[in-house]
Amino acid sequence: MVTPDPIPNSEVKLATFMPVLAQKQGTHEAVLLFLLSFINAKLFNLVMNKKEAEELIDKFFRGKHSKEEVGKIKNLAMSYQIKLGNKRKLFCNRCYSMNLQVKGIKNNIKRVECKDCMHIFRWKVN
Ligand SMILES: [Zn+2]
Repeated sequence: MVTPDPIPNSEVKLATFMPVLAQKQGTHEAVLLFLLSFINAKLFNLVMNKKEAEELIDKFFRGKHSKEEVGKIKNLAMSYQIKLGNKRKLFCNRCYSMNLQVKGIKNNIKRVECKDCMHIFRWKVN
């Protein structure tokens, strides 16, 4: 496990943004807003660097997860501009379900069916 930065970038941004908020709408409200956005960032694991995000995504795709979780991890990858590459083949690109079944391989085309929305994908092999 990598130890997180003492002052991650997003926290610095929030801290510099705070005085601006204080001027605009009373100090009390600004402090509350700052705390809320900080807690949100912690909850949704936004306070981390790209390497940590890549590790999280790598670990995530080793197991089975729900559609909602796959959607969240896809958004996370997009926000950090991380390419999913072959991991894209582990979930349905229509409904994000990981419940896929291989239907067969013909002429170097692998057919995979999503068990949730019955959509069939074709991957080229070799
Ligand atoms: Zn699907």
